[in-house]
Amino acid sequence: MSDGAFYSGLQAKLDTLRSDGLFKPERVIASRQGAEVVSQDGRTLINMCANNYLGLSGDEQTSQAAAAALEKYGYGLSSVRFICGTQTVHKELEQKLSEFLGTEDTILYAAAFDANGGVFEPLFDENDAIISDALNHASIIDGVRLCKAARYRYANNDMADLEKQLVAATEAGKRHKIIVTDGVFSMDGTIAQLDKIVALAEKYGALTMIDESHASGFMGKTGRGTHEHCGVIGKIDIITGTLGKALGGAMGGFTSGRKEVIETLRQKSRPYLFSNTLAPMIAGASLSVLDRISKSTELRDRLHENTAYFRKEIERIGFTIKPGTHPVVPVMLFDAPIAQKFAARMFELGVLLSGFFYPVVPMGQARVRVQLSAAHTREQLDTVLKAFEQAGKELGILKNQ
Ligand SMILES: *Cc1c(COP(=O)(O)O)cnc(C)c1O
Repeated sequence: MSDGAFYSGLQAKLDTLRSDGLFKPERVIASRQGAEVVSQDGRTLINMCANNYLGLSGDEQTSQAAAAALEKYGYGLSSVRFICGTQTVHKELEQKLSEFLGTEDTILYAAAFDANGGVFEPLFDENDAIISDALNHASIIDGVRLCKAARYRYANNDMADLEKQLVAATEAGKRHKIIVTDGVFSMDGTIAQLDKIVALAEKYGALTMIDESHASGFMGKTGRGTHEHCGVIGKIDIITGTLGKALGGAMGGFTSGRKEVIETLRQKSRPYLFSNTLAPMIAGASLSVLDRISKSTELRDRLHENTAYFRKEIERIGFTIKPGTHPVVPVMLFDAPIAQKFAARMFELGVLLSGFFYPVVPMGQARVRVQLSAAHTREQLDTVLKAFEQAGKELGILKNQ
């Protein structure tokens, strides 16, 4: 408390964030997460910005499964996994995730951030090379920083540049090389070209790793993920992902792959060794989610129907979107102040969505990002589309206006 300059320095930085329009306020929700949420002031809003792809976050069946596991296994373990923090429900979830992803074994973490933070350092050292997509998630970037391996970066989704980096790492005489990419990039909904990445990995003798946080549970015919979508199940060395998005939405993460990799992580991965075990009710609810989506593709199918409908209709109204098939739909407004005004107007019209502008996305690429959910009804989507049309007309930004 004796260094006043420290606190005034922080306040000045916070003030700058506010005046630059980069301050992130938190919206307070007074209800469960869902297709509709009730905000603190009692207004009901249609929610178009959650990672709640399968609609399971506020879902009754998921909540009941968590309650049943809470009752059976108790609230928590007060332990890391290797001391006395492993219950049957954790082992069962690891096995079910492996079956679901088509891998040998899986290790649970408190978050995907921890899975990515703890995956590189135990497996690679200064003799090795990590070749990472430029738009990979912050947790991958941090995980790579914690590891002594040489770092190579390729332009987002650019296979020619990836090959250049593979050549550079090979010429530098690196022992092991690993290509690392998000399965799906959350700002654009871009799907990584895993078929090409696997072919390049085979050509240069490299390993592959994908982060499936925006894919597990709904990408591919049976929702296994981007590797299923791209036809490369069984050809990816390491898969990380979250339980905090489509797969239930509470929290928790995992790394999945060959048993030698997972066993090494259990022995050496710091966020696993030095952090508490995943709460058993989350493990129990996750098991119920995996069971449900393995038995039926209904939620996944509804999500993709909603996505196709929204993508078609929003373009028909006269908006520009980034083309694609993923439930992340970037509606391009290009100009940062317009994106801000637009999101604020949509909020007044009862639609919750988020605007993104520089430096989160490149200059001149400001947008609002829509995320579809299996929980959205056609009626809700039509209400949202009407609000888009109205706000678009008011701001004079529709193509056919
Ligand atoms: C959300 C996300 C994470 C972090 O997931 P948590 O389980 O919330 O820590 C990691 N990687 C990607 C690509 C993500 O989108």
